[in-house]
Amino acid sequence: MLALRPNCECCDRDLPPDSAAARICSFECTFCESCADGVLAGRCPNCGGELVRRPIRPADRLARSPATTQRTLKAGGCQPSP
Ligand SMILES: [Zn+2]
Ligand SMILES: [Zn+2]
Repeated sequence: MLALRPNCECCDRDLPPDSAAARICSFECTFCESCADGVLAGRCPNCGGELVRRPIRPADRLARSPATTQRTLKAGGCQPSP
């Protein structure tokens, strides 16, 4: 099950579970759309995998299976790949 992390690992922007701006890789490294489409160019900086839009969990399911509140932040933020 997706953890639905609450923030972008690059810029620490809030990404609530119903945000359409959240992007994840297969390991659930989580980013906002502006970091994913901008500085990261669609690739996860941690694993090199592709970033896709995070699906939104329906509200009734979210009540039973809440999102994690644990924030993950990448040390030093994200740098453009060379
Ligand atoms: Zn971001
Ligand atoms: Zn990753």
